[in-house]
Amino acid sequence: MDCIFCKIVNNEISSDTVYQDGKIMAFRDINPIAPVHILLVPCEHIAKVSDLDETDASIVAHMVNVANQLAKQEGVAESGYRLVINCGKQGGQLVPHLHMHLLGGRQLLDALG
Ligand code: AMP
Repeated sequence: MDCIFCKIVNNEISSDTVYQDGKIMAFRDINPIAPVHILLVPCEHIAKVSDLDETDASIVAHMVNVANQLAKQEGVAESGYRLVINCGKQGGQLVPHLHMHLLGGRQLLDALG
């Protein structure tokens, strides 16, 4: 499958990995828009968050839990941060493999879009 995040998960493309377990991986965004900009992705290919249902949506809870840990490690837990999942074209999703952005380290704009 020609999926860039699957290639990162499978070590076919290098990344600045900050966390990995059997279920998800987290690595620094290649084009960061904030001092802390980390992507969390499931190891399994799931195209978008709307593909999840009751049986597998717990992966997002795990992603949130790890993002909270990473926010502490990155020193932004106290100052605040944002978790974002874009879904589909109008949602701004460019890479068709579910991912959560962890953004922090600067004042983020109030606007959501
Ligand atoms: P989205 O618009 O939500 O699909 O975000 C996709 C994100 O993936 C963007 O912030 C890109 O900068 C990031 N990205 C694309 N390719 C890579 C890569 N090879 N390594 C790290 N981040 C990437």
